Amino acid sequence: MSKTQKLVAIKGMNDILPPESARWEWLEEKVRNLMERFAYRNMRTPIVEPTALFVRGLGEVTDIVEKEMYSFEDKLNGEHLTLRPEATAGVVRAVVEHTMLYEGGKRLYYMGPMFRHEKPQRGRYRQFHQVGAEALGFPGAEVDAELILLANSLWEEIGLQNVELQLNSLGQPEERKAHRSALIAYLEQNVDALDEDARRRLYSNPLRILDTKNPAMQDLVNAAPRLFDFLGEASLKHFDTVKAILDANGVKWTMNPRLVRGMDYYNLTVFEFVTTQLGSQGTICGGGRYDYLIEEVGGKPAPAVGWALGAERVLELLKEQGSQVPALVPDVYAIVPDAGSLPQVIAALQKLRAAGVSVQMHTSSGEGMGSMKSQFKKADASGARFALVFGADELARGAVTVKSMRDGEGRQSEQSLDAIGTWAGTLKISG
Ligand code: ATP
Ligand code: MG
Repeated sequence: MSKTQKLVAIKGMNDILPPESARWEWLEEKVRNLMERFAYRNMRTPIVEPTALFVRGLGEVTDIVEKEMYSFEDKLNGEHLTLRPEATAGVVRAVVEHTMLYEGGKRLYYMGPMFRHEKPQRGRYRQFHQVGAEALGFPGAEVDAELILLANSLWEEIGLQNVELQLNSLGQPEERKAHRSALIAYLEQNVDALDEDARRRLYSNPLRILDTKNPAMQDLVNAAPRLFDFLGEASLKHFDTVKAILDANGVKWTMNPRLVRGMDYYNLTVFEFVTTQLGSQGTICGGGRYDYLIEEVGGKPAPAVGWALGAERVLELLKEQGSQVPALVPDVYAIVPDAGSLPQVIAALQKLRAAGVSVQMHTSSGEGMGSMKSQFKKADASGARFALVFGADELARGAVTVKSMRDGEGRQSEQSLDAIGTWAGTLKISG
């Protein structure tokens, strides 16, 4: 590569630039606020984990582990590492490693980038972002329902519409075993209709075949024996409790007996929130119970349940629905006619910022500060509600002119710099 050749981002890994990044911060703020109200606590785990965590946790015969992981060897010590394709396995590892369940269950959430080597397209990227919530150490169906209500509340908070909640139950290992035999027998009878992935998985992980995205296999999958029909009393009761809580809270759901999710770690309740407005990338959030994962990664057996949403899909769907996120504009644009006054001006701006006012300062070109006209033009373009004019005369009086930029008449007044604390609040958008 020549030294001057332009370097660009990796395919499927996006820069999130302003003003778009304001939408991200807005969403993150809504999430934090809501998690607080459900008493879920923030968790931050590494982006790189031992490859074995995902192989064991998600299952060897899954799309993610078979073909989507960014795995590499640590050049320095030969360790097998992977950029996390999801965060549940890492959260569980951390919970076990730090014996976090010692005193009882934990409600946790996270936000951050995940990495999967997929074919980039709308709503499907190689670096994407998830928000996830996990409740570990709780066996009761009321916690499954709590997590679904949490997600549903988020849609309400951010104004997301037309997402359908689909539910299924994957039962328990014993019930899975009985279903598995029936499923294999059915698939063997239809072996000619199976694609390459399905044939490979016929005996290693037949349930995974039901999660296929291959349109040619949909009819076959739709007619396959349903796991739900193999559930015993306890599993059905658990599922009924979840549904009763959702019903009592006016959360609409539909039953999707084909819903199996992409990872092996799920049991009992599984769910997805789906939309028809994002083409084939219709799942915006998915989750379920994973009572055996903690043990799988070496912890003392404990039940758990959680979900993850795709932030890109949520934001794209919001945009599709025409939702407006308030644009970020400074409260104040500082006009500085004379570069010589910058030390005094900046000291005043620091006081405004300390008082919570958002301040953008005019900066010098190589030639000086520029004409008043050009400074006002910049002030206008910034979207600020007020221009603060730090003219030499005002400064000599220990004052500044505050000019409204938005009321058409350009009302202005002179304010004392010694008394910033008494008038700073009137400049704040929220103040
Ligand atoms: P899909 O069926 O669309 O591949 P998935 O079942 O692989 O999704 P999960 O592993 O359940 O997805 O992840 C939870 C959520 O993360 C998904 O519902 C989706 O919103 C989002 N997501 C998953 N993969 C991607 C990706 N490559 N790009 C953007 N968002 C993604
Ligand atoms: Mg996927």
